[in-house]
Amino acid sequence: APGAVFWSPKGTVLYQVLADRMKRWTRENGYQEIKTPLLYNKALWEKSGHWGKYRENMFLVLDSETGEHDFSLKPMNCPSHHLYFASRKHSYRELPLRYSTQDVLHRNEASGSLSGLTRVRQFAQDDAHIYCTEAQLVDEVKRFIQLLDKVYAAFGLTYVAKFGTRPAVRIGDDALWDRAEAALESAVKSLGIEYQQNPGDGAFYGPKLDFHVKDSIGRTWQLGTIQADYNAPERFSLAYVGEDNAEHRPVVLHRAIYGSFERFIAILVEHYAG
Ligand code: ZN
Repeated sequence: APGAVFWSPKGTVLYQVLADRMKRWTRENGYQEIKTPLLYNKALWEKSGHWGKYRENMFLVLDSETGEHDFSLKPMNCPSHHLYFASRKHSYRELPLRYSTQDVLHRNEASGSLSGLTRVRQFAQDDAHIYCTEAQLVDEVKRFIQLLDKVYAAFGLTYVAKFGTRPAVRIGDDALWDRAEAALESAVKSLGIEYQQNPGDGAFYGPKLDFHVKDSIGRTWQLGTIQADYNAPERFSLAYVGEDNAEHRPVVLHRAIYGSFERFIAILVEHYAG
């Protein structure tokens, strides 16, 4: 299992304590935990855009009957959360809906890039997707950064925020990117947080704010992230019924605070000098 971790008894305790504490933090902040499957067919990945832009990072499963790669282990939770959101009708009164999960993910990182706990192929994130109206976006980004501040303060971690804009390889037209970038930047500006520009560093589906922490020996690590996504709601035809009784598209925020448990634990071990 190259790039996958065997957790010792003490490591497992540490992992569970972090997982339980994060579940409490998110529950207190209005998130609902969900669990979704690990394996999905190609049609989902084509719809999400992963098949075209992310396939080399995915563990594909060969169908022995057709000889084709018809399934993939999920490298991200997003598409499954969108499916879940789309599985029934939503009213504007339910928004924002915040779905959190700690499901296992697989990414086929090049074997040369694997490194201890910091770069692995099987991992779990303290992941969540927030479905909100455009008018709620700034508040939701603000709430997230306030929660992140609380979590990092508990571990004695300080951070630098970086604003990653549209990358060369991306989905969605430029008008959507303009809106997503403007929304994220206005949210972070309204909080008065200092941030650095990181042109071209956005995810393939949306711009992001990354939070880089410094460990006790001065090395920086990217941990937390929040990404504004106007593309997925279009691709998955996500909708809620507004006050006007008409259907509207929500905006999706992807966000994590620890990043991955594996990486976070590696950094804590360094940070606390063992
Ligand atoms: Zn996501």
